[in-house]
Amino acid sequence: APAVPVDPASLPPFASEPDTNPALPANQEWARAALAQSAEPGWLDALPVPPPGDRASPPGDRASPPGDRAQSRSSLDRTVATARAAAAQWAARPAAERAAILYRAADLLSRRRGHLIAVAAAEAGKSIAESDPEVSEAVDFARYYAHRALELERVRGADFTPDRLIVVTPPWNFPIAIPTGGTVAALAAGAAVILKPAGPVPRCAQVILEALWEAGVPRAVCVGVYPDEGPAGEQLLRHPGVDRVLLTGASETAALFAAWRPGRPVNAETSGKNALIVTPSADRDLAIADLVHSAFGHAGQKCSAASLGILVGSVHDSARFRRQLVDAASSLVVDWPVDAAAAVGPLTEEPTDKLFRALTTLEPGERWLLRPQRLDDTGRLWSPGIKDGVAPGSLFHRTEVFGPVLGLMRAHDLDEALALQNGTDFGLTAGLHSRDLREVRTWLDGAQAGNLYVNRGITGAIVGRQPFGGWKGSSAGLGSKAGGPNYLMLMGTWSDAPAAA
Ligand code: GLU
Repeated sequence: APAVPVDPASLPPFASEPDTNPALPANQEWARAALAQSAEPGWLDALPVPPPGDRASPPGDRASPPGDRAQSRSSLDRTVATARAAAAQWAARPAAERAAILYRAADLLSRRRGHLIAVAAAEAGKSIAESDPEVSEAVDFARYYAHRALELERVRGADFTPDRLIVVTPPWNFPIAIPTGGTVAALAAGAAVILKPAGPVPRCAQVILEALWEAGVPRAVCVGVYPDEGPAGEQLLRHPGVDRVLLTGASETAALFAAWRPGRPVNAETSGKNALIVTPSADRDLAIADLVHSAFGHAGQKCSAASLGILVGSVHDSARFRRQLVDAASSLVVDWPVDAAAAVGPLTEEPTDKLFRALTTLEPGERWLLRPQRLDDTGRLWSPGIKDGVAPGSLFHRTEVFGPVLGLMRAHDLDEALALQNGTDFGLTAGLHSRDLREVRTWLDGAQAGNLYVNRGITGAIVGRQPFGGWKGSSAGLGSKAGGPNYLMLMGTWSDAPAAA
């Protein structure tokens, strides 16, 4: 796109993109139509995926099956060299120009909401209740980082040099928001991006890339590579031309990436084992709704999901509370293909051994309040499960399972609840339901997690309001949070920065 001078003041003020109101009949009709399309046989396969990364590859290549897409070393070298060269010009453009392009991309993503929802349903099994806010989050990331780019340019002076090339490796659980977030952050700061989508969701990534290109991001500055899990992925991450890797994924993946890039930046937002505490002063109806949504939204496949409910004293001992919780969880419509009525869809992949164990077995002291049922032959569709009696220090207490199982623990007071909540190696999200201000203060002082939520569910951080990121084992080399004011400052080097520890 030709360089057009842009007045920074011409960007509208940042405002969160609204979700679709599901109560309106017209929106219900729209949702049904979008999802019906995605369930048609062959619909997904006909959509484009990112090419293998070699710009020179013949168009016929795009039709070849994913297994043939392994990237050769020379084509990888070319992709990296081209992106680095193009980045120099991209960074030299005024931030206002990059910002205007990102605003256009946000508008395009917003207009393609129905398509994105359909692709996420077909690729990842996402229900519309989950994918609709995810589209809003993606749109928010593009607009928010556009504003932060202006701010970064205003304050940076000569101190900040954006990276030339950043590889973005998002997870499959938020196939719209997280690839968009990392990519637009890097672009806003002035870097080029190679987006390597997660294995199951390349078509969501392709929709995002197309919006960015159409909005005016030069193709050489923003490249998608087909997700190879094998050596090609390792080669890309080890490549000397890659200045930084932005990872959202499992802690084990972060450790692997760090080992591949000794002494070179990997900014990783990783696993969680998150608990929501309910004290006797809580509004119990609200607590149940938040527990259920935080535990079972997207079948529990969120780093932020509530995997533990820590119930204090009389809350735990109330048969009525337990019955209502079980009723609420069993009322969720679980279905696949997801239609407009489905609250929960399938697991995106077959369950890992760890998840399968959590869905089918109990550890000492545990009992099922609601036993998860395997609902079809694929092993991917499960009804929600709730187990009581999770023991302190047990496997379920300490490890992330990433699926539709909620474990309950009893604490006799808030201090004990906090100790249980903090008693894992992770620290991503944490919640408290309480109407006692003293409890809230104690909890805010003591909870060890990046995102603390009071009287709210613990998933669905809002861009610009609830910057997202963890501490302890939930982040590696991060330092600033996604969707927060300082995130772009990660995307380069500071000449006056103290040496990294
Ligand atoms: N940002 C998402 C949330 O607040 C979670 C991201 C993740 O699971 O990786 O729910």
